[in-house]
Amino acid sequence: MTHKWQAVLAAAILAVVGTWNPVGSAPHAWGGDFRVSTFRADVTIPLGHRCMGVLPTKSSRIVDPLEARGIVLLGGESPVVIVVFDWCEIRNDSYDQWRQAIADAAGTSRERVLLSCNHQHDAPVIDAGAARLLREVGLPNELFDEAFQQRVVERVTRAVRESLQRSVPVTHLGLGTARVERIASSRRVVDEQGRVSFGRGSRSGGNAWMREAPEGKIDPVLKMISFWNGKQPVVAISCYATHPMSYYGRGEVSWDFVGIARDRMQRLFPGTFQIYATGCSGDVTAGKYNRGTAEDREALAARLQAGMIAARKNTRRVPLSQVAFRNAQVALEFHPSPALTVASLRSRLQDPSASTESRIWAAMGLASRQRVAAGRNIDVPCVDLGAAQLVLLPGEAFVAYQWMAQRMRPDSLVMAIGYGECWPGYIPTDADFQDGFADKWLWVAPGSEARLKTALKKVLRDHHP
Ligand SMILES: [Zn+2]
Repeated sequence: MTHKWQAVLAAAILAVVGTWNPVGSAPHAWGGDFRVSTFRADVTIPLGHRCMGVLPTKSSRIVDPLEARGIVLLGGESPVVIVVFDWCEIRNDSYDQWRQAIADAAGTSRERVLLSCNHQHDAPVIDAGAARLLREVGLPNELFDEAFQQRVVERVTRAVRESLQRSVPVTHLGLGTARVERIASSRRVVDEQGRVSFGRGSRSGGNAWMREAPEGKIDPVLKMISFWNGKQPVVAISCYATHPMSYYGRGEVSWDFVGIARDRMQRLFPGTFQIYATGCSGDVTAGKYNRGTAEDREALAARLQAGMIAARKNTRRVPLSQVAFRNAQVALEFHPSPALTVASLRSRLQDPSASTESRIWAAMGLASRQRVAAGRNIDVPCVDLGAAQLVLLPGEAFVAYQWMAQRMRPDSLVMAIGYGECWPGYIPTDADFQDGFADKWLWVAPGSEARLKTALKKVLRDHHP
């Protein structure tokens, strides 16, 4: 029998089964055991909303909508959800609440919801504990609009529930990779005297020295994991490690160049639901290649999309044999800086003469401290698809963690997504701490590397010492 006839027969059987069973009611109804459903929901912030948690400028114009895009994978022990928001960060109580709401909608447990933010900066930071602290000092809705939050939780969970009615079989897994040209560069630069700094920000390309300095430690490879129903790729998840901003801070809400590339892929291949996830890129930005102009935003989008198209083209298709799930919990310690003690954060929060932005920053630190003190650890979940592993790391894990994860499983394609639980902010390696990495957005202590390494070894089943 030719492949063509097999496909025709399969389609015929599927058509019969599709009318016979209410769609979505029987995950194991036909052929392979696995199914996938896709969902998307608008999560655009209203005008006048704070961006990036602490930017002074609030949203004044919607340039692009912000979206939550995800899938529910069915047929494993219990459903697994992978969902990515075009938001800057979701932290602490909000991170738990979002995952719990989505888990309830998908009929699974919270740890099985892999929720990540793409980390655009003209987009919100959400932290319910910090919002509560801010309310207590007369700053309600300054970090985020709580009524808006409630609306979008309802919108996203409804989209998850409705998607289950439209699940389709998954027979194969697709594995694609492509080298992306001239986007990523390391924040870390070394001057002529051998002095290290982490000063190459997202739009340093206007500075000749920053532009000429080498790319440094990055991961130039875009990875694409796709799910296929026979010959049709129904879902593609692309992941590349860079901060996603071309410019920000003007109140122009945008999904930025990563969202532009994703949107163009969606229009080009309407039969394949597109998800983009930001890899571990705390120390990686487009800084070498970006001056922060509209022209550069367009060029970055075009180069990222070229990587997506190349990865789609060279995709290798293998039968999907498993959807296994593992989770490890990691306890990261709070940074010991005197500026980050409970007393100093509290006095900043309560100081009416301090700027609203710095009081928000203090509230976020306090909310995280309360979480750490209560012993509430961070999930490091991993979906084991056999030929591919999809693992989610917290915060702004540096790109070295992505390399670490891939090295643990040379036999499998490891997609390491960043920006899960975001309270840690930057997560440098030991070497970066030794190089003097410091930042307002750094909340974790040195020593985080060993803890994350242990968690990664566990979920990736790396048994080497
Ligand atoms: Zn960042």
